[in-house]
Amino acid sequence: MQFELTEEHLLIRQAARDFAQTELKPGVIERDEHQKFPAEQVKKLGELGFLGMMVSPQYGGSGMDAISYSIVMEELSKVDASTSVVVSVNNSLVCYGLEKYGTEAQKQKFLVPLAQGEKIGAFCLSEPEAGSDATSQHTTAIDMGDHYLLNGTKNWITNGSTASTYIVMAQTDASKKHRGINALIVEKGMEGFTVGPKENKLGIRGSDTHSLMFTDVKVPKENRIGEDGFGFKFAMATLEGGRIGIASQALGIASGAYELSVQYAKERKAFGKTLADLQAIQFKLADMATEIEAARLLCYRAAWLKDNGLPYAQAASMAKLFASETAMRTTVEAVQIHGGYGFVKEYHVERLMRDAKITQIYEGTSEIQRIVISREVLK
Ligand SMILES: Cc1cc2nc3c(=O)[nH]c(=O)nc-3n(C[C@H](O)[C@H](O)[C@H](O)COP(=O)(O)OP(=O)(O)OC[C@H]3O[C@@H](n4cnc5c(N)ncnc54)[C@H](O)[C@@H]3O)c2cc1C
Repeated sequence: MQFELTEEHLLIRQAARDFAQTELKPGVIERDEHQKFPAEQVKKLGELGFLGMMVSPQYGGSGMDAISYSIVMEELSKVDASTSVVVSVNNSLVCYGLEKYGTEAQKQKFLVPLAQGEKIGAFCLSEPEAGSDATSQHTTAIDMGDHYLLNGTKNWITNGSTASTYIVMAQTDASKKHRGINALIVEKGMEGFTVGPKENKLGIRGSDTHSLMFTDVKVPKENRIGEDGFGFKFAMATLEGGRIGIASQALGIASGAYELSVQYAKERKAFGKTLADLQAIQFKLADMATEIEAARLLCYRAAWLKDNGLPYAQAASMAKLFASETAMRTTVEAVQIHGGYGFVKEYHVERLMRDAKITQIYEGTSEIQRIVISREVLK
């Protein structure tokens, strides 16, 4: 067993930490308040290779492992989860799926620009009536011979208006239930494809969340990923890896709030002492530190299993469940440690608390993670 990060991991951690401080921190409060998408920051992340971190250099990626990805997600999320979700979706829900299951032509056409950060991707599974129960897809993709005719609505799509490449799950043969679902690559600008207004959200307000509408969109057959009917398996397989990204995002939100709390506790005076001298505060910090360390180990373990080609579905769900619950508990306590100052925007912890909530909801709610874990436990 090896608990040390490699030289490469330490270097990438430092690079992500520096980026978060110099590029993400300035303006993070304003972007949150005005729901401004971090366009410049995402562009720079693309230039630095963070948007195709795990993609092979052959397809324009950085060829790093999943542990590096977890480290980067933690560091960026300590400061700005609205930006880190773009990194997560592009890397694990779009690039990973295309590299693993796409044809050579799809990789050349779609993966290369996504991995190089020239384009952004979106993953479109959720619908107004299909969230946790992703099998009940109402969006249809009728087989017309050389193309599919796509009709329906997708909900809550991250990168909804900024993406150029959309992987859309749709039902081709309802009689086959989830085995009749296909994953299709849809390009921005295709006739009949429209984007709804941006959602006004509680947290990750800078991220770009929209509904998408498809009316008789002609999607060429060569844009289908995998065999006919592979779409649901494709979605579940990519979400497994995605959960490592969101678990690491939750970890980052928690550790960001914790670090701010430690610093604040050392500075703030009450009753002639610093907060850090009070045992009630010390114990809160001790609990935060312990849970964060446990969450980090779960994230790294899931990433390690993935890197080593071992099954990691249960490990990824455990990491996401625990890290997201830790993020929620930790950020609530961070606001408490900051007192009234925690309740205002300048101190960052209220934003981290709002941002933490989404990690318990997207890419499978905490309840869905418990279903995945218990299914494995009871096998
Ligand atoms: C900001 C944001 C960004 C998102 N980005 C994307 C994206 O890029 N792509 C995409 O496809 N989707 C995205 N989503 C959608 C997200 O994945 C879904 O919201 C999530 O899966 C939950 O689905 P739902 O909202 O329909 O809730 P529901 O499925 O209706 O669940 C409601 C509640 O019931 C619980 N529940 C449901 N079924 C069960 C069960 N069997 N057992 C126990 N409890 C259950 C849930 O845990 C939850 O607490 C995003 C959502 C948000 C808010």
